[in-house]
Amino acid sequence: MNRTYYGKLIFELSKPGRVGYSLPKCEFEGYSLNDDKAFAKRESNTLLPECDELTVVRHYTNMSNNNFGVDTGFYPLGSCTMKYNPKLNEELCQLPGFNIHPMTPAKYAQGSLKLYDEVQKTLAEIAGLSRFTLNPYAGAHGELTGLMVIRSYHISRGDTARTKIIVPDSAHGTNPASAAVCGLQIVEVKSLADGTVDVEALKPLLGPDIAGMMMTNPNTLGLFETKIPEIARLVHECGGLMYYDGANLNPMLGVCRPGDMGFDVMHINLHKTFSTPHGGGGPGSGPVGVRKGLEQFLPNPMVRQIDNYKLACEDSSLGYISYFLGNFGIIIRAYAYLLSLGKENIPMAGKLSVLNANYIKESLRSHYKLPIDTVCKHEFVFDGLREEYGGDHHDAEHVTTLDVAKRLLDYGFHAPTIYFPLLFHEALMIEPTETESKETLDDFIAVMKKIAEEAKADPQMVKSAPHSTPVRRMDDVKAVKEPKFTFKAL
Ligand SMILES: *Cc1c(COP(=O)(O)O)cnc(C)c1O
Repeated sequence: MNRTYYGKLIFELSKPGRVGYSLPKCEFEGYSLNDDKAFAKRESNTLLPECDELTVVRHYTNMSNNNFGVDTGFYPLGSCTMKYNPKLNEELCQLPGFNIHPMTPAKYAQGSLKLYDEVQKTLAEIAGLSRFTLNPYAGAHGELTGLMVIRSYHISRGDTARTKIIVPDSAHGTNPASAAVCGLQIVEVKSLADGTVDVEALKPLLGPDIAGMMMTNPNTLGLFETKIPEIARLVHECGGLMYYDGANLNPMLGVCRPGDMGFDVMHINLHKTFSTPHGGGGPGSGPVGVRKGLEQFLPNPMVRQIDNYKLACEDSSLGYISYFLGNFGIIIRAYAYLLSLGKENIPMAGKLSVLNANYIKESLRSHYKLPIDTVCKHEFVFDGLREEYGGDHHDAEHVTTLDVAKRLLDYGFHAPTIYFPLLFHEALMIEPTETESKETLDDFIAVMKKIAEEAKADPQMVKSAPHSTPVRRMDDVKAVKEPKFTFKAL
């Protein structure tokens, strides 16, 4: 790493008068604003960095080298499905024909509307539901949209007393958050020791005030919820609807369908399961699907095929939740991914993601605590290192999950998800996805074992990791107590 450039902002590299470009000579007379527009004039010059071309090139190249992504290394971030995003998708979504203005009249956007319709139909087939909207911008946004569908359904029947939603204690944090934004009261249902929803604890919660229940399957522990048919029957009998958080759809692809299990409404994360780049806050896409009889509540605008493709707005709809038709570039990428795998290969993606997760789990259980010892789906959770490798929670000096995650960075791996879900003290959640080779998985397993041995032999070394990254361990407490939000020119 070059010391001149490292860790500096482009503004800090700036020297007054340095230029890295030359503009063509202006052929027009100077232009100045009329006096009545004087309010629009700047009072002082803008603070812009002044750098030569080589400084700019080195600055941004060094910065990109510090970035870690799926394209640079293994990224086993549980709950995030960081699979490889084929470059073909990138190429296809940049075809000039898709580069149209959102306000383009439908008759000039037939290709894009057809693509939208085909993606929604394919997702409906994969999910076993009737129709999808692709308008929501993210998984959490899809949850909100789906819950609004559920609320619209109850209100349309004059059933206005259903103001509560049941959410398992293992749920992703977005579930209760979306429900609260939707104006619903959250009722938590406990999990059993095996990590699945406790049906006996659910029964007394059901009643005429329940709008529905949210479930994730496989749940956030990577476990298949086996009692869904019974749960769905109980919730339906009390008049509620079943919501499926489909962010974990990956292992289910082409193998089983939420619609067949008794779910009424769901969202899918295109940016996770259907392989489009994600992270750092966006863009994403959270399509929402519904079973027959709920289609009229989906958000406006809706894409309809009546001879040609049209945009329709229905009065029964819950209204607009986004501008136009969502993050369209993501929808094109998902379409390319679906077509390049094809119906025959989609189930392989799910099955391989399950195989890879179980392979890592079984290979590492000798070194890491496995709190729930069963076949997992696409991801699983360790509860830190085993006692004999320094992971005894009762010892104040024990080597924590945070330490293991930091040490992994020294070996060039992205850290797994840590301290989520909240059911265990030292949760370390690993999701390899189907796109990793056996060589990469074996390499990761070897490093995780090595870290366990290091934790036993030299705990202080692990506790002070990372040692080889450009930035060493952060002082989290200082970051919270003395946050710096702005850069001040020196
Ligand atoms: C990622 C995830 C979400 C939220 O999706 P975003 O696109 O990040 O809003 C919801 N539920 C589960 C289980 C998830 O893994």
